[in-house]
Amino acid sequence: SKVRIYTLAKDLGVDNNRMLEILDGLGVSYKSVSSTIEEETVDLIRQLLADEGHEATAEPEAAAAPAQAAAAEPAQAAAKKAAEPAQPAEPSDIPSRAPVVTIMGHVDHGKTSLLDYIRSSKVAAKEAGGITQHVGAFEAKTSRGKIVFIDTPGHEAFTTIRARGANVADIAIIVIAADDSLMPQTREAIAHAQAAKVPMIVAINKVDLPQADVDRVKSDLTSINLVPEDYGGDLITVPVSARSGEGIEDLLEYISLTAELEDLRADPKGEFGGVVIESRVDKQAGVLATIMVQSGTLHVGDFLVVGETYGKIKAMTDSAGSRIKEAGPSTPVQILGFSEAPSSGELVVSAANEHAARERVAGRAEQRRDAEEARLRPKLSLEDIMGPLSETRTVNLILRADTQGSLEAIQGILARKESDDVKINVLLAGIGAPTEGDVLLASTAEATILCFSVTPAGAVQKAADQKSIDLKSFRIIYELIDEVDRLIKGNIEPVF
Ligand code: GDP
Repeated sequence: SKVRIYTLAKDLGVDNNRMLEILDGLGVSYKSVSSTIEEETVDLIRQLLADEGHEATAEPEAAAAPAQAAAAEPAQAAAKKAAEPAQPAEPSDIPSRAPVVTIMGHVDHGKTSLLDYIRSSKVAAKEAGGITQHVGAFEAKTSRGKIVFIDTPGHEAFTTIRARGANVADIAIIVIAADDSLMPQTREAIAHAQAAKVPMIVAINKVDLPQADVDRVKSDLTSINLVPEDYGGDLITVPVSARSGEGIEDLLEYISLTAELEDLRADPKGEFGGVVIESRVDKQAGVLATIMVQSGTLHVGDFLVVGETYGKIKAMTDSAGSRIKEAGPSTPVQILGFSEAPSSGELVVSAANEHAARERVAGRAEQRRDAEEARLRPKLSLEDIMGPLSETRTVNLILRADTQGSLEAIQGILARKESDDVKINVLLAGIGAPTEGDVLLASTAEATILCFSVTPAGAVQKAADQKSIDLKSFRIIYELIDEVDRLIKGNIEPVF
């Protein structure tokens, strides 16, 4: 019978990436680690690995105890290194780090409930100290290791952080309620994850409800070209219930599996780098900032620079509220020591001492002034300076319209405008007026927002103006299409 790739990997005690390498080597095609492979191939792989085990006598333990493969991995790696002293340093010398996960989806589909369920079942009660204090992230301990959840649900956190150039999430969970299926904010969440090139896992929630229709969700996903595995695609979908807890273990398992494939690594001994998740001012304590350590290690007493301010870490607590002295990669920590609250999404770096921190802040202030001046001067694009960059151009668009019908009509016409030279990439096609989230998406993806028969709110138009995003509204479809023609022409390199 057929076997799933990750099951086979687990049985044989090799990691999933290794298994995929073997399959590549054999020329076997697959879509993802949860694709199934034929029994003959399974036999062949068993044979291959058995032969390998024969040669590498240094690893008998790992081979004999596949169930403990995860725990045996460092030993295995060490054994391999010892066996191949001539090999140059591999990137895998950098230790793995835990995945950072964000949960996005339509309102009321169960983002908060899912986070609450995971937090209450996977964060030790003792650590939580009874009261769960929201610091913007928490660490869940699972049988396959730590998973860090960003617990500001919704894509606002994700987008503001990304808009500042930081990518804090490694994996996006898109929650879809099984009784409601795809909704406008689901589409937005998907567009954000796709624009950020962050792998997605779909959690089909509320399967405990009698009206839950998992198949409808799957076929709706298929209709927007996200094809679930059991429909022949590579999208991982997991039926769950945040109420009963059904499927949550599977979801965590899939997160770990996806993380393993992403091969996330960071050097705790390297230079410190982090991102502000959120911050607030506590009347008694002062400024409390939650920072995600992305690389290196933070220590109490370190000097940190964020934006145009700096601070010295006076005290540090982990997400469960325990005081800690140091924190390595993929650890969210709450820090006391800034005099001003930094904004979420800002990058944090460290400085050797107070003097260095001050200089850095001064340098940044100067850079900002220069940038402001430059903004007032006419814009020179990279193309103006370097000439045409590549042959195929992409016009990134966000479409907003009053009805599904008009959206489809517009997309139908746009599809015919594509050519070998120009690709039209619709990041998001949504019903209703554009949102500030659209503006953020447009600014990170360099897209133009075109609206048909919907009027942007004043605040949204203002946000677009501030970020120099083109946001245009039309009442006649062909005027909108003319605008796309202009964008295409503006984008086509002159023929010499
Ligand atoms: P959010 O807006 O996406 O954060 O959604 P919430 O977590 O606030 O959930 C919205 C509503 O759905 C609440 O009344 C929850 O109790 C309910 N809900 C969430 N998950 C489930 C579930 O798995 N099953 C059922 N029956 N209800 C759920």
